Amino acid sequence: MIIYKKTGKCIWCGKTEPEVSFKTAPHILPRKLGGCEIGLDVCDDCNHFFGTAEKNKPNIDLVFKEIFGSFRFFSDNLNEHSYEKYSSVYFNYLHSKQCIKIKSLFCSSIITRQFKRALYNVFFQKYHFVTGNANNPMFDMVRDFARYNIGSPLVFYSFNNLKLTPGQEEMNNPHLPITNEIIDDMMKYGVFAFFFMGEIFYLEIFPDVFQIKGMDFLQKQAQRFLVSVKGNERIFEFTDVMQLDFFMMRFRD
Ligand SMILES: [Zn+2]
Repeated sequence: MIIYKKTGKCIWCGKTEPEVSFKTAPHILPRKLGGCEIGLDVCDDCNHFFGTAEKNKPNIDLVFKEIFGSFRFFSDNLNEHSYEKYSSVYFNYLHSKQCIKIKSLFCSSIITRQFKRALYNVFFQKYHFVTGNANNPMFDMVRDFARYNIGSPLVFYSFNNLKLTPGQEEMNNPHLPITNEIIDDMMKYGVFAFFFMGEIFYLEIFPDVFQIKGMDFLQKQAQRFLVSVKGNERIFEFTDVMQLDFFMMRFRD
């Protein structure tokens, strides 16, 4: 039997065997999105937690899958009927207005918060996969937020006029890149650059460092990545799912 552990201590709850078990493969990205990387040191309880809806709160993995799945759906070359195939648990597509709306059963601020927690979840599992260092207490804020819904770390969204065009292969089997440069920047500026499926988010990881150096870093990132075509490019604080550019409007005339 495969046991999915490296340090043997759950990166989320900090528990070890026999109190918890590590028998279920923890997918770093939701399987339904095509993610095939398997993480380590996520106990079965915590693994289950991220894939389950809490009371009044949408499933964190599913929110992530639905949002990036929508990006993927609407960025494909569509014919005039393909929108009819769009289906989502949390969103409706209004063809006449060409916009996405959250279904009335769900609340935008809660979906937004669950999505932010999902970004931290994916980041943290992948970070541990690469470094084996996620048990470090310096990540308590990440644990508190993603796993226990405590706190409100800052997330930024890059609204660019250049699409970092992921290939079809990357769209079908996506993964989150974590390079030494990205880790160095995170340690130095307190913020993690989340490049995924052609979108860029920035996650505050170390608030003390971010407060001092974070905005400078974002400014430098803006100079490096943002392409000025229409003058609307910017990096801004992400506070609402509806700020996301699902339809790639920025690439149209
Ligand atoms: Zn756990």
